[in-house]
Amino acid sequence: MTASVISAESIPRSGSATQGAIELRQVSKVYGDVVAVDQLDLTVQPGEFVTLVGPSGSGKTTTMMMVAGFEEHTACSVLIDGKPVDTLPPRDRNLGVVFQNYALFPHMSALENVEFALRMRKVPRAERRQRAEDALDRVGLGKMGDRKPRQLSGGQQQRVALARALVFNPAALLLDEPMAALDKRLREQMQEEIKTLQKSLGISVLFVTHDQDEAMAMSDRIVVMRDGKIVQSGPPEEVYNHPLTDWVASFLGDTNLIPCTVVERNGEEAVVDLGGLGLARVRDRGATGGNYAVSVRPEHLKFSSAAVASNGCAATLVSSTNLGATVRHRVTAGGHELQLRELSSDGGTRLPAEELWVSWDAEKAQLLVLES
Ligand code: ADP
Ligand code: MG
Repeated sequence: MTASVISAESIPRSGSATQGAIELRQVSKVYGDVVAVDQLDLTVQPGEFVTLVGPSGSGKTTTMMMVAGFEEHTACSVLIDGKPVDTLPPRDRNLGVVFQNYALFPHMSALENVEFALRMRKVPRAERRQRAEDALDRVGLGKMGDRKPRQLSGGQQQRVALARALVFNPAALLLDEPMAALDKRLREQMQEEIKTLQKSLGISVLFVTHDQDEAMAMSDRIVVMRDGKIVQSGPPEEVYNHPLTDWVASFLGDTNLIPCTVVERNGEEAVVDLGGLGLARVRDRGATGGNYAVSVRPEHLKFSSAAVASNGCAATLVSSTNLGATVRHRVTAGGHELQLRELSSDGGTRLPAEELWVSWDAEKAQLLVLES
């Protein structure tokens, strides 16, 4: 296990606990005939960690650029701490920024790169040097201040960028795929460190990633974007377990989509007809539309060796594939092909000839609208 090198203790807080709110009100961006961001309403509360996820081209970077002030927007308003910042240049918005395409200056040392953020803000020279050194210390690079970016590894460069974003005690951090270039191990380490730092500073973060696991692990709230619009937003478990559409369900991971007709809706719960799988009780978040389906995640389907009374049926095993930590089973049940995932330690010994039932908990099955 690698020890965390980023420490938050030495960083003065940027102000009261009410600082760091970011608000977008009906913000749009049009490039020619492309609507990159379409009347977006988005709020990041002080201290909140909000992650934008969505396919490439869904408007995540454009949204971040408008908040940062690198890109003008077409309509309405961006507010930071309740004040409109639409006419303020980036350096006056009090936001720390780490963007993929917002690299370190190659001709400057690590220390000079961090100092630059303070120079832009007219901090006196003597104070600048000290604060930049402290910031590099904080990200574990105190001894590497003299190195140029090319003499640092990818992970170390990201730490310098983070030090540069934090050195002027910003109200909030904007991080656009900051770890995309790092390998898995280093990325996981940085995820934990950024999260620790964010919690101890109480700083708000608007984050972008294309990595679903990263979004699940780091966020207080996930905002799913498609074609410049928000399609769903909520705490990670909520969005993952209760997607409103098949598109959201599939975007956030594997799922079984079973077409259904709705028999009865009672607030949080619905009774649906799953054809060959019979009647089932499922969770209902009020999604409405043309055609309905039920989504059950592969890890929420269970095998049992005794017949199940409801929310399941007899099944035939088609195949089992060991994926290392988990085993993926394919079964047919009630005329549907379903995918089921188990931990390898639980599921390695099952034989295709076995007589099986599959079932799920009503809480883990979500009624949704088919839109894609
Ligand atoms: P994401 O970060 O989610 O991948 P972007 O915000 O980069 O998406 O892009 C959203 C849409 O806007 C895409 O269709 C993209 O092609 C378009 N776009 C982004 N920047 C520009 C630009 N400078 N000029 C023209 N179109 C752009
Ligand atoms: Mg992007």
